[in-house]
Amino acid sequence: MAQSIVVLVEHVDGKVDSVTLQLLTAGRQLASQLNAQLIALALGHQIAGVGTALQNCGADKVVLVDNAALDSAAGEVQAKVVAQVAKQLDVCFVLVGYGLVGMELTPAIAAQMGVSALTNCVDVKFADDAVVVTRPVFDSTLHAHVALDNDERAVIALQKGSFAPAEASANQAPIETVNVDVASIPARSKVLGISEEPIGDVDITKAEIVVSVGRGIGTVEKIPLIGELADALGGVLACSRPIVDVGWLPRERQVGASGRTVTPKIYIACGISGAIQHLAGMRDANKIIAINKDANAPIFGVAHIGVVGDLFEIVPALTKAAREAKAG
Ligand SMILES: Cc1cc2nc3c(=O)[nH]c(=O)nc-3n(C[C@H](O)[C@H](O)[C@H](O)COP(=O)(O)OP(=O)(O)OC[C@H]3O[C@@H](n4cnc5c(N)ncnc54)[C@H](O)[C@@H]3O)c2cc1C
Repeated sequence: MAQSIVVLVEHVDGKVDSVTLQLLTAGRQLASQLNAQLIALALGHQIAGVGTALQNCGADKVVLVDNAALDSAAGEVQAKVVAQVAKQLDVCFVLVGYGLVGMELTPAIAAQMGVSALTNCVDVKFADDAVVVTRPVFDSTLHAHVALDNDERAVIALQKGSFAPAEASANQAPIETVNVDVASIPARSKVLGISEEPIGDVDITKAEIVVSVGRGIGTVEKIPLIGELADALGGVLACSRPIVDVGWLPRERQVGASGRTVTPKIYIACGISGAIQHLAGMRDANKIIAINKDANAPIFGVAHIGVVGDLFEIVPALTKAAREAKAG
């Protein structure tokens, strides 16, 4: 078994994404089981601050590839850089977040390294002499447990929220810089820049109560029903992606992998099935309440309170109760 496990760090403007801290928890566990060292690997330009922020997050070493050419490097180049570093460091597993970045990079890194790509995982561990990953299948109603052959290396992409974030450790991991000639890597595309999406009239990421509507609402005329519950609770209205795709609510209201990530005190999902791309944006909410008429809907897998029933009966009753409670 090779000796290093790498966590690929996601960061923007010096800020480390929460998925990286979750990957460090998974990586620490696996590294201890395999007696391997855990490396946090960050690519970018002028990223010394990212390195410092990661020093006490459970990694044995922080490795930076700090190169001006990485500012405009598209996924194909980043994948080649990761593969080069992985070769130098004798890496057995690369852990990546299964978000939009990971969806692109995971197969590309695996192809460059000539190893397996395991996407959409919710767990990874060493059990019965093998590294085993767990992946949802069949609309997340079943879990497949996949064991890797001994000595098999892999790039493993884990869903956001699969592990708790790494807690600050007393150990200060050393920071090492690895030089890669990024400019000489042939590229067929480049990143021109990164811009922030407009917040819109409401910033759902700041709300303490989020009431979210999904395709179960049926028609645009019924959306105010969910808006009224949000108002009665002093929360904000959000939605799943199909509601945005048909133009019933603006994009800034979308929760999920290609929308916003929310971590409110209370998240109420009304008529939302709980696809992984939706869960990616809300599974870290403090209390999740799901209303769905299908008892097997995957949303109930993450809900703290599940109500199996018709939202057109339940939501107005909740709104009434909230208004009455407010009125005293
Ligand atoms: C690359 C990619 C990115 C994506 N990004 C996102 C994202 O950011 N956010 C996102 O949400 N999705 C995203 N998706 C789409 C995602 O895969 C799902 O298609 C979507 O989340 C489903 O939305 P939904 O739950 O509202 O609809 P559905 O899956 O159709 O679920 C509707 C639910 O409503 C229930 N229902 C119906 N009638 C009632 C009723 N009267 N009372 C109670 N319950 C009822 C049904 O039982 C069902 O569970 C993405 C997909 C891809 C491929």
